[in-house]
Amino acid sequence: MKSKDLRSSLVKKARRIIVKIGSSVLVEKGVGLDLVSFSKLAKQISQLHSDSRQIILVTSGAIAAGMEKLEFRKRPDDIPHIQAAAAVGQTHLMKIYQDCFANYRKRVAQVLLTHDDLGNRRRYLNARNTLSTLLNLDFIPIVNENDTVAVEEIKFGDNDNLSALVTSLVSADLLIILSDIEGLYDHDPKTGEQARLIHLVKNIDREIVDCATETNNPLCVGGMASKIEAARKAVRFGVSTVVANGRAEGILNRILDGEVVGTLFLPLADRLSSRKQWIAYGLKPVGRIVVDEGARKAIVSGGKSLLPTGIIDVSGDFERGDAVSCFESQGLEFARGLVNYNCHELRRIQGKKSREIEGIIGYKYSDEIIHRDDLVIL
Ligand code: GLU
Repeated sequence: MKSKDLRSSLVKKARRIIVKIGSSVLVEKGVGLDLVSFSKLAKQISQLHSDSRQIILVTSGAIAAGMEKLEFRKRPDDIPHIQAAAAVGQTHLMKIYQDCFANYRKRVAQVLLTHDDLGNRRRYLNARNTLSTLLNLDFIPIVNENDTVAVEEIKFGDNDNLSALVTSLVSADLLIILSDIEGLYDHDPKTGEQARLIHLVKNIDREIVDCATETNNPLCVGGMASKIEAARKAVRFGVSTVVANGRAEGILNRILDGEVVGTLFLPLADRLSSRKQWIAYGLKPVGRIVVDEGARKAIVSGGKSLLPTGIIDVSGDFERGDAVSCFESQGLEFARGLVNYNCHELRRIQGKKSREIEGIIGYKYSDEIIHRDDLVIL
């Protein structure tokens, strides 16, 4: 299939769509919200909604909106002021969305999340039910990170990441990430050199990761690197992802018409099951297990479980059932999973045979430290 036809077939059949709007699309040079941009996006989203698509917005801009209200000339450096700005700005942001969408007789609902909400399976399912119910009631849910309470340990980090996780949460068909750049270039367009826009990414390999340039806009948390990271997750969930310029005229309609704009990341064929999506990305790993080359190969190429014998180092403080990261000896994370032993038990049995476990700690839950059903290769 030609790449234009492939794109067209992928986007046209998308019914449930996540649209992530970055601060750079919503903020006018420096501070100040760009109301024209809000209203243009609301118009396009409303049209898509009327065309029987379900849309969830993941929006940034709360902190920027708060800065405007509080008359801060630059983004504060301390967390209490950032969180206060988010609190002031979030209501303002929602009011603008509400008014813009009301022009098209569309109703919106606010959903604020922290990473912690997704880490707990019950809360994860609860968030999923709420979002599905809102969609079924014909609302347009507007999601943001709950910035006023999020501390480092429970943060998504940036809204690109949040949008990828929401994609998984509601089993969306398409993720669209809008910022102020056209898409992914083969190198930084700001260097002045001729940079080529990459329209199609089949595989997010090292070469693609190296194309990412960082943002120098203090209001934008993630640069292209965080967009590629979000796309990497979404395509693993089996979801096509488009990164495009949210300020380009009619951008959403153009994307959904199959026009070759922005960068399309193709979904992977071997999509993760919903439970494995949650293990890999819904949970935050609380420990690290370093394994030898034999164990890495057995897991990655042989589809095997992690046994104690291949473990060479254990760090972090974790309980049985927690999520941990698996690293190879060069320090590269290659898998995540739910561990069957706590950190103290694991330190005593690392490097030993499974049949020795009981003799060392006095009992045995299982031969495997992480069973392959609870293990996800990254
Ligand atoms: N949650 C932040 C805000 O609303 C934005 C984070 C981001 O852009 O990644 O201001």
